Amino acid sequence: MRYQWPKRNQSAAALSFDVDAESGFLFREPEKAKRSLGDLEERRFGPRVGVDRILKALDRLKLKASFYIPGWTVVNHLAPCKRIRDAGHEIGAHGNVHEAVGMLDETQEKRVMAEQLAILKDQLGVKPAGYRSPSWDVNVWTPDLLKRHGFLYDSSLMGNDVPYDVPTTQGPLTEVPVQWLLDDAPLFRHVYGATNAIADPGRVLQMWSKEFAAMHVENGCFVLTCHPFVSGRASRIALLDDLVTFMRRARGVWFTTCEEVARWHASGPAPANARPAATRPASASGARSGARGPRRRSPANRRGRG
Ligand SMILES: [Zn+2]
Repeated sequence: MRYQWPKRNQSAAALSFDVDAESGFLFREPEKAKRSLGDLEERRFGPRVGVDRILKALDRLKLKASFYIPGWTVVNHLAPCKRIRDAGHEIGAHGNVHEAVGMLDETQEKRVMAEQLAILKDQLGVKPAGYRSPSWDVNVWTPDLLKRHGFLYDSSLMGNDVPYDVPTTQGPLTEVPVQWLLDDAPLFRHVYGATNAIADPGRVLQMWSKEFAAMHVENGCFVLTCHPFVSGRASRIALLDDLVTFMRRARGVWFTTCEEVARWHASGPAPANARPAATRPASASGARSGARGPRRRSPANRRGRG
């Protein structure tokens, strides 16, 4: 077993949705965003239609998912954000105005971090366990900043396909990794001048199914990243249904949220060790590696075997 999952599951699967709405466009093209109703409306389809279709699909499939929401989206599309929260899904941070942090210095990134957390708290009453960086853009100092703000995990890096630790001066930050292959945007978004055509959902179903089946053999953590303004389109919702139906044919898949994956990784599987890592004193991480019972295993022992 390459990575040990709870209840003897062979792999884990989490569906995640980045509720960008207009925020990324406002950040990257602020001048165009002042006049282009076309671009704005394309993105407004997400909170206006896509979110509810996704919530309905998740309800039908009896799944909880992880939603990463920029502060700007929360402020400007509060009702659908509340519906996500009230349906019991995980809400994680995703920047304020979808700032690609590679374009920010450390001071600016700190300010943006504080702003997004304040909005999530004030508007939704949420203190997120997880962070998904806008555009999966991460600076070398970002993990430290996340740790200092009490985040349990990040889900923006591609350094493995099972959860892993990113070192920080405050101790390890759990990473729930992502990958481009499992992102709807490069496959489905129409961008003038780009080489990607709009993919046939049938081809994407085949691609994602194959990746899932292979990752399942590898004890992987299948994290799908979709955007309501992209995957909220009718035939793509049907694709999500078909994908989950395919995945459910495999035995031993732990369907869960990124937060639960991170909690599993950060805490040992024994009940006594199941409390959130974020609230554990730093010294406890050292103590965890000492075995106290036959069921107790440190996260390090879950990886790299076999
Ligand atoms: Zn995004």
